[in-house]
Amino acid sequence: MLIIRKSNDLSKYLGNSSSASTTIGFVPTMGALHQGHMSLIKQAKKQDTIVVCSIFVNPTQFNDPKDFEHYPKTIEQDIYMLEKEGCDVLFLPEVKDIYPDGTEKLRHYPLDYLETVLEGKFRPNHFQGVCQVMNRLMDVVNPTHLYLGQKDYQQCMVITKLLDIIHSKARIIVVSTMRENDGLAMSSRNRRLSEPEREKAPGIYKVLSYINQHIQPGPTYPLIEKAREILIQNDLVPDYIEIANADTLELITDWDGKTKLVALIAAFLGKVRLIDNLILPLNFAHYAN
Ligand code: AMP
Repeated sequence: MLIIRKSNDLSKYLGNSSSASTTIGFVPTMGALHQGHMSLIKQAKKQDTIVVCSIFVNPTQFNDPKDFEHYPKTIEQDIYMLEKEGCDVLFLPEVKDIYPDGTEKLRHYPLDYLETVLEGKFRPNHFQGVCQVMNRLMDVVNPTHLYLGQKDYQQCMVITKLLDIIHSKARIIVVSTMRENDGLAMSSRNRRLSEPEREKAPGIYKVLSYINQHIQPGPTYPLIEKAREILIQNDLVPDYIEIANADTLELITDWDGKTKLVALIAAFLGKVRLIDNLILPLNFAHYAN
């Protein structure tokens, strides 16, 4: 696997290695890789001739400086995992390469409704940061396919909108969420959980499954309240528990029994903030591959 640290070098390399039949699959990450990330790499390996993974902990998408500071870094193990999976290129840039003019005066993206709810509401400017880094990465890599995890459901929608804004022709492939055996969605942040916290963490998936089992046409409020109770009983402190239209993320307070839904949860376990989601009812799983 080639490790490239400068964006100019990566663009040049990809330009030189491309022919008419080349397709580039791109998997952007923040490192501390796990099997969830690897499922994106595997999918890209199946579909594309060159697979590029980036590892860059993007400072502009962290609204909490402590979260940025404590973000796990396991670069040697990451390189080992990527090599084992047959990734062709690892892009490992520094902040000044991604943001040569600094991070103060970056472009603002018209995300409208999408950044007013859920993660957008609880993490101000987070999605602006996601767009800033993704715009830059898309310029450098210019991929055929962009692989994203359903785990970050709202992010998939934001990046879909970004590609439209920047007139990118790349196709987004959404890969379903990889879970541990007890249902916990794999996440780099899981590494920060203490042992007792790790035991409680699957509570988020249990509550999502509970919502899936009990969703009925009519008001969603009683189910959301019950879900909140269960989370709190399990020492999880929710930022939000919402049921939304799976295509638009419009929050659903009264379900017509037909609209495809997604249930989304963000909750703290001690100092660690975890997110997860589930398409409802499960047989509507249209967004996952
Ligand atoms: P991150 O390193 O957290 O920025 O994630 C990089 C990519 O991996 C994003 O597209 C995530 O949605 C995706 N991802 C993270 N966790 C999982 C998971 N458990 N299953 C599938 N994809 C994931």
